[in-house]
Amino acid sequence: MASPYPEISLPRPWIPRRIMVTASARTWPHGRRIMERAAALGVPVVTLPGDRVLLDLPDDPRRAYAEAKGTLAVVVAPPSKRKLQPIAPSADWRLDLAEGCPAHCSYCYLAGSLKGPPITRVYANLDEILHGLPDYLGRGTITSRSMARVAEGTTFEASCYTDPLALEHLTGSLSATIAWFGRWQAETQLRFTTKFADVAPLVTLDHGGRTRMRASINPAQHRGHEAGTAPVAARLSALRRMAEAGYPIGLTIAPIIAADGWEQAYGDLIDAAAAALAGLPDLDLSIELITHRFTAGSKATLDSWYPGSSLNMTDANRITKRTKFGTEKQVYDADTMRRLRTYFETAIGRSLPQARILYWT
Ligand code: SF4
Repeated sequence: MASPYPEISLPRPWIPRRIMVTASARTWPHGRRIMERAAALGVPVVTLPGDRVLLDLPDDPRRAYAEAKGTLAVVVAPPSKRKLQPIAPSADWRLDLAEGCPAHCSYCYLAGSLKGPPITRVYANLDEILHGLPDYLGRGTITSRSMARVAEGTTFEASCYTDPLALEHLTGSLSATIAWFGRWQAETQLRFTTKFADVAPLVTLDHGGRTRMRASINPAQHRGHEAGTAPVAARLSALRRMAEAGYPIGLTIAPIIAADGWEQAYGDLIDAAAAALAGLPDLDLSIELITHRFTAGSKATLDSWYPGSSLNMTDANRITKRTKFGTEKQVYDADTMRRLRTYFETAIGRSLPQARILYWT
């Protein structure tokens, strides 16, 4: 079927300044394939003598950030990282193919969850990681215990600590995982969300309908907060291509920011998504709605990484919420939350009536 939605040209894929490969990573075929891909792209490959990734960073914080962000490390995920954790409200289990992301979003949630210099680490022992997944089948406690979502089967979320599509040209890990789920004859679903758009390697895969891609989108007024990502129009075009290839799809509208003019901005965004997905037969579309939040720690990290950012992380319209882990985060106050939620549910019902809202948070 010819798409009525225009093809959008893609930005150049990320080319790291260097790729560092640990000794253990080189013992895995997937690790060696990543080395070959990187070398073919002209990336300098550093083979480390052991398994520690040490980068000699300059004292200047801006240059140290740039050096770390420009580095891809190929490592082996240890057993502790292969022990999967629940990840509410998205999925039963968190499945990490990598940690870190090459983009520069000034609200990035990774600032609160990953420690140390922002080196992107990808896992060489992908086979071992995937081999462990059947142990988790039928043991989910998040979507598997939700009447509205139990039909998804046991769900695995691959975008908690990375944007897997951002790295796909270097690793091939996402394609391999989608194909693995495609062969897995079980009630299960792989999920990933992305601010990138090069889905060419994915559309030809035998996915078996067991992977849901979501495009993570925000209005044009926040484009300046998403340096290094694909334009939103390209993400929506990519999402359409995935639906045309038979994948279930979704939108992650995140982070929702209550800045001046937000009604108009998000209304235009929802209308743009509706236009991009118009006319698709048997559309299976979910929507996740995630409001902007931050912690004292993530704010301090983001302030140091992006000192000129105009993102509002003051106390205005905010309350402090205590998490079940005993930490505190700043979320919008009840009145702002209510207005946002009412607006989104109404606008989505009007423009994307076939969509299923999975959660609001
Ligand atoms: Fe963070 Fe996602 Fe932006 Fe990457 S694309 S920097 S993971 S918010």
